[in-house]
Amino acid sequence: MAETTLATAKKCPKCNNVGDLISKQPTEVPELTGYVFQCMNKVCPWFNTRWVVTADEDDKVPVRDIGHDPKRFPARAVITEEQRERMRTKFDDETT
Ligand SMILES: [Zn+2]
Repeated sequence: MAETTLATAKKCPKCNNVGDLISKQPTEVPELTGYVFQCMNKVCPWFNTRWVVTADEDDKVPVRDIGHDPKRFPARAVITEEQRERMRTKFDDETT
């Protein structure tokens, strides 16, 4: 798979126009910077839509969707078997 760079990631996924940079801020990972771009192409389905890009100091994009990075959401993404069992039991109680 080709490596994604900031130059590629800043282009709108729908129309391939370079989006406007809305904001740029540091992330929890020191070497990564978060960028928010917005498509300004009026005929694009993503007109006024924003997307997030995370890039390192070399403008490489190691993680495209920071929402799926398990390091950012450690607790909420994990359900233990015990919790699952409890939820299932509760569900059974309510439906019977
Ligand atoms: Zn667009």
